[in-house]
Amino acid sequence: MARIPRLFVISGPSGAGKGTLLSRVRESRPDLGLTVSATTRSPRPGDVDGVTYHFLDDSDFVARVERGEFLEWADVHGHKYGTLRSEVDRRIADGKSVILEIDVQGAFNVRKVYPDAVLIFIEPPSMEVLEARLRGRGTEDEASIELRLANARQEVALAEKYDARVVNDDLSQATDELAALIDSYETTGGNSNHGSY
Ligand code: ADP
Ligand code: 5GP
Repeated sequence: MARIPRLFVISGPSGAGKGTLLSRVRESRPDLGLTVSATTRSPRPGDVDGVTYHFLDDSDFVARVERGEFLEWADVHGHKYGTLRSEVDRRIADGKSVILEIDVQGAFNVRKVYPDAVLIFIEPPSMEVLEARLRGRGTEDEASIELRLANARQEVALAEKYDARVVNDDLSQATDELAALIDSYETTGGNSNHGSY
């Protein structure tokens, strides 16, 4: 069936498995364009500037906000994060579906600009599992883990406002569910009458 390109927004608490799930889905769907966000947080081991994020200092980020370069931006876990319009426009011009992996504030701001964007929330099976995953990832210090867990409770409360939710318990099952959801929105509109993007 023909695919209609869509704009997907993926959110969920830090440690829920968004990055892991998206990289697995993209193994079978390399055409799905994941935008590279800008951030003022410091690179972590494994981060590559221009690949995982565009790492900017605070004044550069603010200057770009003032120039209107961001589709949306938000303060998340104490740092600024934003989606550059150029990243989204480039992929839309290619006629491909676009995926933004952004926080809940950003998701609702994107929905205002693109009402037909599909908002998908990735949930951990429980807060205990989320904490174990965050600790297991080993990328965060204690203060950052505490902040991310506190924010997670507020984020999960907004899940019901999303178009769809995926519980990431068993990784293979959650990967299949997310891939099927994306496919269904692209091919049938995901039971909605919305157009593309
Ligand atoms: P996020 O991008 O949402 O912050 P990650 O993709 O970095 O989360 O995942 C957080 C940690 O949990 C990583 O160490 C990852 O390998 C692990 N993880 C992700 N999904 C699962 C799963 N279904 N079962 C067990 N561990 C998982
Ligand atoms: P991390 O620092 O773990 O890479 O990301 C922290 C949080 O920032 C995640 O919830 C992620 O979804 C969010 N985030 C990443 N990029 C953006 C963005 O461009 N805009 C917004 N609003 N949030 C983002």
